[in-house]
Amino acid sequence: MHPMIKPALRRAWRDRQTVQYGVAPAHAVLLGPVDNTTAAFMESMDGTRSLVQLREEATRLGLPEGATEQLLDRLASAGVLDDATADREASASVHDRLRPDLASLSVVHRRPGDGLRRLVARGEASVQVRGAGRVGALVASVLSAAGVGEVAVVDGGQVEPWDTAPGAIAPDDCGERRDVAARRAVSRARPWNSRPRSRSRPVPRLVVFAPRDGLDAYAPDPGAAEGFIGAGTPHLYGGVVESTGFVGPLVTPGVSPCAGCMLRARAEREPSWPLVVGQWRMSARRRSGVPACDSALATVVAGAIASYALSFLDGDGACASGYRTRFSLPHLVGSTEQFSAHPECPCGASSVTADHPLSADAVEEVTMA
Ligand SMILES: [Zn+2]
Repeated sequence: MHPMIKPALRRAWRDRQTVQYGVAPAHAVLLGPVDNTTAAFMESMDGTRSLVQLREEATRLGLPEGATEQLLDRLASAGVLDDATADREASASVHDRLRPDLASLSVVHRRPGDGLRRLVARGEASVQVRGAGRVGALVASVLSAAGVGEVAVVDGGQVEPWDTAPGAIAPDDCGERRDVAARRAVSRARPWNSRPRSRSRPVPRLVVFAPRDGLDAYAPDPGAAEGFIGAGTPHLYGGVVESTGFVGPLVTPGVSPCAGCMLRARAEREPSWPLVVGQWRMSARRRSGVPACDSALATVVAGAIASYALSFLDGDGACASGYRTRFSLPHLVGSTEQFSAHPECPCGASSVTADHPLSADAVEEVTMA
């Protein structure tokens, strides 16, 4: 190990004895008191010295026996220490386009070398995105750009002009098969040029439902996810419906509420719900117009879906499990909804999930005089 203070964290002295690493509160730490000798010693933790060389440096500066280990422990538990050996490995194996992602992972994950381990794991992961509209194709591209090794996109039909978006399917691909065009977007975003590809499609670690018609993710049909529930494949819903973008819930089959749970619980509270959803679906089929999907909102939502997916792959926990976050225009007004597992749903999540109170998702009633 070559200890190194994480270069991604900016350093500032708040006074002669207190040093701050990091700018934003979520990951910034204050360390102190630090005397001048220790400060000089910390300067030498730039990744150029091995542990043995650091001990020699400590002795040369007149620090007491064991001071090196003590300080390293303290810096590691504060989350500011990284292993430069891992960083050098990264230079050799990580494409330059992924270096900002690696630096970010090193800030989020506290232990030395953790960032690189997460990035390597992303390279081995496989995600399937269902839907190649503005949101779905962009989610797929972003995951590819963030180092996910295998990103597959499933959709039918041909690209329409309104399916295209910056970073997603290019306008030149109008008329092309949607899945082919989305694959092109994924490979454009991929940080490496070539990569040995496995012949058999790997089983996805995560499936993202980001259908072109956002309603299919907002009021998801349990039938569409049946196979993934049976196979135990985690899946995440997200999209844009009218002028509201949303991300979640993330479904861990048998553990957290699924589409079947959502439908049952909602129909219990509001018996007309299945009828209402049925009419929305029918009207989408009959309508000849183009569904509403704000470009900026689609970009925000695709970014949020991709970020939740990456957190899941990085092992940071199922952050949207049982939750849906909505952003509504104008001003991206945010709200969060919570779902509960339903005791009659065959997914079995209700036997492991504690009962959460259901959030009100009531539509404001307007009396027509
Ligand atoms: Zn269920």
